Amino acid sequence: MADSRRKYLLGLALLLMGGFLIGWSYDYPVRGLLAATAIALGWQIRQLFVFEQMLRNKQFTGTRYDNGIWSGIFSEVGYLHRRSLKQKKRYRRLVKELRHSIDSMPDGGIVLNSAFEIVSCNTAAEELAGLKLRQDRGHRVDNILRDPKFSSYLNSSDFENGVELRSPVADGRWLNYRMVPFGAKQHLLLLRDVTEHVRLGKIRRDFIANASHELRSPLTVIGGYLDTLVTDVETPEHWRKPVARMQEQADRLNNIIAELLELSRLEAIERNVKDERVDLCALLMTAQASVATAAGSPTIMVDCHSSDRLLGSVTEMESVIANLLSNAVRHTPGDGTITLTWSSDAQGGQLTVADTGEGIDREDIPRLSERFFRVNRGRSREDGGVGLGLAIVKHVLSRHDATLEILSEIGVGSRFICRFPRTRIEAGDTLSH
Ligand code: ADP
Repeated sequence: MADSRRKYLLGLALLLMGGFLIGWSYDYPVRGLLAATAIALGWQIRQLFVFEQMLRNKQFTGTRYDNGIWSGIFSEVGYLHRRSLKQKKRYRRLVKELRHSIDSMPDGGIVLNSAFEIVSCNTAAEELAGLKLRQDRGHRVDNILRDPKFSSYLNSSDFENGVELRSPVADGRWLNYRMVPFGAKQHLLLLRDVTEHVRLGKIRRDFIANASHELRSPLTVIGGYLDTLVTDVETPEHWRKPVARMQEQADRLNNIIAELLELSRLEAIERNVKDERVDLCALLMTAQASVATAAGSPTIMVDCHSSDRLLGSVTEMESVIANLLSNAVRHTPGDGTITLTWSSDAQGGQLTVADTGEGIDREDIPRLSERFFRVNRGRSREDGGVGLGLAIVKHVLSRHDATLEILSEIGVGSRFICRFPRTRIEAGDTLSH
């Protein structure tokens, strides 16, 4: 480039000098200089036009101008153009490969903009959800995948768990929809065929429900005979203790079966029944009254900070309170305190069962709502624990779009907080409790 610049300046100087000398030989040196300048300018203008045309036609090859500086500019621009063409080609190939691999994925993916309108999707999404990208692009996804459960999932800001729904195109098939953040303010809706998973879940639920039902009848008969033996005066003395133990264990089995059946029932039926207006303060007071009378139990207090009603099921909420309260009673000494609280604010409602009992180890907390999980198996068995109470609580709460938060410290106590979304809360009458 430096060389061509030197060449260009030298040529220009020679031209001007030539013009000057020719003009001088005719006694018009200034005119000669001006004429040479005009020629140099005209040449530059011509080169500019050629350059502009070259840019317009994107034709950078075959143009040869030996004028040093311009040939440098032309070859530099030509090189940049060829390089960008190569890069474009590489990117096009990359996009094609990416598109190809996205299309051969078994899971569907739908890209949505911030208003949940369809931007694009892969082939699997078209097949699984019956989308037709050409027609459906730009439409809100819940106008295409019409299902109230999907709409409420979309409108909730919690996309963590996804939602399982029947396939809109294939009978008997189930899809899992899950939203993940994508790009700037966009979303990626992932679709997965979970038919097999749903089928296995149903087999497991049916098995537990059927087995529990089948076990119930013989156990009722056994329990009946044991009750008779316990009360019968003719039962020999040395049999009384074993019979009482057998009766205890039969009761325990009955409890397990009842809780298993309760869980199966909750899992089997969808909560599409009409919601009731649940007066949680009243339920908390009834629960308090049912436990507080037992001698040696901890003190139970009810704190009612809101008259707002919960939209849901009375019986299911009774079960939540009964389970949390019976746990608190079993794990709190007689001189401890249990506080049942209902409150609500702009975020939603909170039902809290707090105790000053033994507390739970931090690493056990995430496992508490697993079926049959007990912190201390031996002790739990003795005090009548089955390990299904919190699983039932969690299930009922999820049917009410609620979550369970557990805070606990060993030796200080535990706090079980059920958080209901604002959509589940309805203003109540004036506070009467
Ligand atoms: P269980 O029928 O054994 O009580 P749950 O599912 O209700 O089963 O509870 C699981 C375990 O959580 C219990 O075995 C117990 O160890 C622990 N737990 C539940 N509530 C409390 C509480 N308030 N304080 C201490 N531990 C608790």
